[in-house]
Amino acid sequence: MNSIVKHIAIACTFVAMSDTKRYAIAIHGGAGTILKSSMTPKLEKAYQQILEKAIQRGYKLLEKKASALDAVETAVKLLEDAPLFNAGRGSVFTANGKHEMDASIMDGKTLDAGAVALLQKIKNPIELARMVMEHSGHVFLAGKGAEDFASKMGLKKMEASYFYTEARYKQLQLAKKADKVLMDHTDRKFGTVGAVALDQFGNLAAATSTGGMTNKKFGRIGDSPMIGCGTYANNNSCAVSCTGSGEYFIRVNAAFHVSALMQYKKYSLEKACREVVDHLLPSIGGDGGLIAIDHAGNISMCFNTEGMYRACKSSVGDYSIGIYK
Ligand code: ASP
Repeated sequence: MNSIVKHIAIACTFVAMSDTKRYAIAIHGGAGTILKSSMTPKLEKAYQQILEKAIQRGYKLLEKKASALDAVETAVKLLEDAPLFNAGRGSVFTANGKHEMDASIMDGKTLDAGAVALLQKIKNPIELARMVMEHSGHVFLAGKGAEDFASKMGLKKMEASYFYTEARYKQLQLAKKADKVLMDHTDRKFGTVGAVALDQFGNLAAATSTGGMTNKKFGRIGDSPMIGCGTYANNNSCAVSCTGSGEYFIRVNAAFHVSALMQYKKYSLEKACREVVDHLLPSIGGDGGLIAIDHAGNISMCFNTEGMYRACKSSVGDYSIGIYK
């Protein structure tokens, strides 16, 4: 794994809101070495279209007074179904040619959370994470136990062939040749997905879903399903979904860190996100980014990589879709 970030490209999109009775949603499809020079117009359009579809779908729900939880789950499900991203259908391969998917969701109102890891057959891991939160009496289920729980819940399972994509398979061969565990978008332009939202009732929620890292071994689990690391939501501060080199995000409790800086040090959302993405993560060699939204509807989409697939939409007319720095 690339442990030292040599060139830190800092980028941050910040959308400020003044009225607290507003609603908004932001999504990401992973951060990494995403360069315009290595993108075809056709592929760029495909990314933009799916980002647009997901942000519009999530936003429409909020508009109709749906909960932030429903909005983030729906947006993430849509991204999981798109083979372009490293989650659900487009998940990367493990070293032994399998898929092991992780996901988590958190409700900022109650601090309820659900997480799943090492799933091999579940079509929409984020759906199972929500079921864990609402019906299991636990927070985090992994592997066979999680799949058994999914069966009990009647959740849709797929054959391994559903998760096969040519591009990912090639990625695995490259990673094996180099004997590396690769963040999906280190050499290709795909990534973990996530969403954060503020609904009309002032509630925040966050969701993240991933296939993890190409060529991962030994049941490796990243930050995405770990509450406080890849995902966090608290109505008193913000909702956060991360993407990047998971081992580093775990070590700094990246998502909770943003929330804690706001709650205990009274940082603004923008300042808290910048602290984590521009300083804390790079200080130990971590690269990636995050999306976050606060209780006033301010949105931050920060990354220290070349790019991050991202989009946001708010009830006061903010609307953006971005890929590069
Ligand atoms: N954070 C994810 C992981 O480490 C990877 C990613 O964001 O693409 O599993």
